[in-house]
Amino acid sequence: MRFIEIKNWTPGYLNVTPQHVTILAACVVCGSEREFDRCAVPVDAKHALIVDIEARLRCAACGARAGRLRFGSYAED
Ligand SMILES: [Zn+2]
Repeated sequence: MRFIEIKNWTPGYLNVTPQHVTILAACVVCGSEREFDRCAVPVDAKHALIVDIEARLRCAACGARAGRLRFGSYAED
C-alpha cells in the first residue's frame, strides 16, 4: 500500500474533510508519518482550520512541532 497525496489541495477545515479522505500527519523534521485520527481530535479543534491543527501537532518520534497534514488515499502497488 502506498499513499497517494492529493496535490495542491487542502479542505481548509478539518470538519469538511470528506470521510473517504485519509489524513496523514507528517513530520517535516524527521520525515516520520502516521495516520491522523480525526476522531481523537479534541472537541474544541474539530472545527479548526487545518493550519491551526498543524500548529498543534507534535511528532511522536522526534518531538518537533513541525507537523504537516497530507490528504489523500491508499492505493495498491
Ligand atoms: Zn519528527
